[in-house]
Amino acid sequence: AKTWTLRKHFDGFPKDSDFELLVEQLPEPKDGEVLLEAVFLSVDPYMRPYSRVRMKEGDVMIGAQVAKVIQSKNPSYPVGSHVIAKHGWRTHTISDGTGLTIVLSEWPQDVPMSLALGAIGMPGLTALYGLEEVCQIKPGETLLVNAAAGAVGSVVGQIGKIKGCKVVGCAGTDAKVSYLKDLGFDHAFNYKTVSSLKEALRAASPDGYDCYFENVGGPFSSAALPQMKQFGRIAVCGGISLYNDTTPQCGPYVHLDMIFKQLKMEGFLVGRWQHKDHESLLRLLTWMKEGKLKCREHVTAGFENMPAAFMGMLKGDNIGKAVVKV
Ligand code: NDP
Repeated sequence: AKTWTLRKHFDGFPKDSDFELLVEQLPEPKDGEVLLEAVFLSVDPYMRPYSRVRMKEGDVMIGAQVAKVIQSKNPSYPVGSHVIAKHGWRTHTISDGTGLTIVLSEWPQDVPMSLALGAIGMPGLTALYGLEEVCQIKPGETLLVNAAAGAVGSVVGQIGKIKGCKVVGCAGTDAKVSYLKDLGFDHAFNYKTVSSLKEALRAASPDGYDCYFENVGGPFSSAALPQMKQFGRIAVCGGISLYNDTTPQCGPYVHLDMIFKQLKMEGFLVGRWQHKDHESLLRLLTWMKEGKLKCREHVTAGFENMPAAFMGMLKGDNIGKAVVKV
């Protein structure tokens, strides 16, 4: 098996030298165990902040993969079946089944399995729960989402359209902006090239926003909060603009708009609604089959390119979900 380990804790933006590629010999699977071979691996923003709290130097990088069972001594996971495994950046793994999820039995043959790491997987569920459970979004409302061309954001905007909302999205390149328009976003702009973020947000929706799906945090958040309408709801999903900070940005502070507009702001983790995952994945799959949910991916080839794919995603190279094909 090949593994990527955290050689050194990240200090600011990750560097090549923070990672180390190792080779290890795996034993034969024992009774109850399976041998997994990674097919697609996910690179996600959470790996950056979680590296501090969940990993020590020398540990295998955390993460999920779609893997194929290639040897099995566990009848629940027959040879040839596909699973989602949270075993980190590894090509092969011996698993006793702990933490494995079989890919939906309803998975259509013609749909790439990599989507189980993206729009029909954790990021898609994040989008759905953030909108339905946290924002409790309603038809006719106006929705703002940032990192909008990414794995979560692109699904957020499309679900917003499915639900009959006006959707405004922001992303960091002109190519991403035109992608958002292709997806049916009502307004999209490049937050890096506008002269004033505040003005751009106001121009996109002069009446303000009912719901704000927050992926970025920091200065973006400060510009967006005052644009909320009365009783607006903010689903705090992520804060990617903060993840590589070496000194924390200022805050938290009480924004007066929170009070006078009676806003609701709630952080969430996708796992809170795990009991609904099966039904939710089927809904996402149905939307995809109906052509209402387009699922783009940014695929990097080769396990050896995991760090490059991860750092590229943090820099914004990806349109849609960033995955690595082994
Ligand atoms: P994306 O596919 O959106 O990739 C990350 C994107 O973030 C980049 O493409 C880039 O796009 C943008 N970005 C990077 N740096 C900055 C910055 N400084 N300011 C603004 N945008 C930046 O990732 P995901 O869809 O997987 O994740 C999106 C967010 O959702 C993250 O914050 C992540 O941590 C969070 N998340 C939270 C979960 C939860 O349970 N709460 C679960 C899953 C994800 P651009 O070119 O537009 O800048």
